Amino acid sequence: MRVLHPATLAVHAGEAPDPASKALEPAIVLSSAYAFESADDAAAQFRGEAEGHIYTRWSNPTVRALEEKVAALEGAEDAVCFASGMAAVAASLESFVVTGDHVVASQSQYAESVRLLRERLPRFGITTTFVDTTDLDAVRSAMTPKTKVLYVETPANPTLAVSDLAALAGIAHERGARLVVDGTFGTPYHQRPLEHGADIVLHSATKSLCGHGDAIGGVASGSRALVSLLRETGVRTAGAPMSPLSAMLIARGVRTLFLRMERASGSAMWLAEKLAADSRIEVVHYPGLATHPQHALAQKQMQRGFGAMIAFEVRGGLPAGKRVYDRLELIARAVSLGDVRSLVTHPASTTSASMPKDARLAAGITDGLMRLSVGIEEREDLWSDLDRALD
Ligand code: PLP
Repeated sequence: MRVLHPATLAVHAGEAPDPASKALEPAIVLSSAYAFESADDAAAQFRGEAEGHIYTRWSNPTVRALEEKVAALEGAEDAVCFASGMAAVAASLESFVVTGDHVVASQSQYAESVRLLRERLPRFGITTTFVDTTDLDAVRSAMTPKTKVLYVETPANPTLAVSDLAALAGIAHERGARLVVDGTFGTPYHQRPLEHGADIVLHSATKSLCGHGDAIGGVASGSRALVSLLRETGVRTAGAPMSPLSAMLIARGVRTLFLRMERASGSAMWLAEKLAADSRIEVVHYPGLATHPQHALAQKQMQRGFGAMIAFEVRGGLPAGKRVYDRLELIARAVSLGDVRSLVTHPASTTSASMPKDARLAAGITDGLMRLSVGIEEREDLWSDLDRALD
């Protein structure tokens, strides 16, 4: 069969009319358990020798359909869904380390993942060195013989730093470590980290994959063997499966991923240029701008644009930034990102507040930094909201 374009896969992968009812829309299977044909069938399924769902904490038809859809978009052998993005992060780290092991991780990344690495894993004897993963020499020097995972977020939350996945995969594999990538900001629309050598790519599916702000979930993709390990660790044993209802909402969101991302990232590029040219703005971080330190890499590594996320600082520092934040009317003051509606966050006082201040500043998350998640509204309306608030 002809190789399908990812936009087509986003609609069709993991979906087929129900054989019995012929319903086109996938059913939401809420059942927690599934009937066995016989004692032999039950035993064969438990041995993994027969196909079938046993118990929804392990696998579920509605969740499986989303896993197949995401695997197709990532170009992966398999994918596994989780109750949240953080459950995907935890499973993707914990599956590859034991007591005494070491992780090298991006210094600029989602603060809850930092907390997991900084506070939870050390309780089990696993340590992490945080480095600027855009600096390959810094990554090389941070790797030790005990390093089992190189954990990278690109583009990074909230600074939009872009790390070189092919180079990092080379460094990780040379040292016998896995490259795990949080690709939430890019989505499979803009980047496919597995093609650059990553072992696992994960997403907070709560964000652009869902796109409508009404479900929490996570997903990780990679080889069949690694995904099966993650399923054992994070879903079956840790007990964090995605709910079938969330899977249905997220799968519905993924069908329009290409439409939404094309529009939102186009608007983000337009808004980033306007903000960068505005004297009321101190600095704009957006990989699509020629002034972004990794612009050339982003052009090579990302496709179809540079994403829907912008970070910027208002001239006048934190007090001015807070006034702008408070005066926005259309753009919602809220955490999260990747929604059809535009959202603005002040990371230093909210999402990144749990980071120690020196680590936060070293990661480029300054007191005045604002993060804008561009939605699919008319871009002129978004600009007038920003322009009026900046005045
Ligand atoms: N990774 C990134 C880049 C995120 O922004 C987030 C949440 O904001 C997460 C992971 C965690 O995802 P969730 O909130 O679905 O647990």
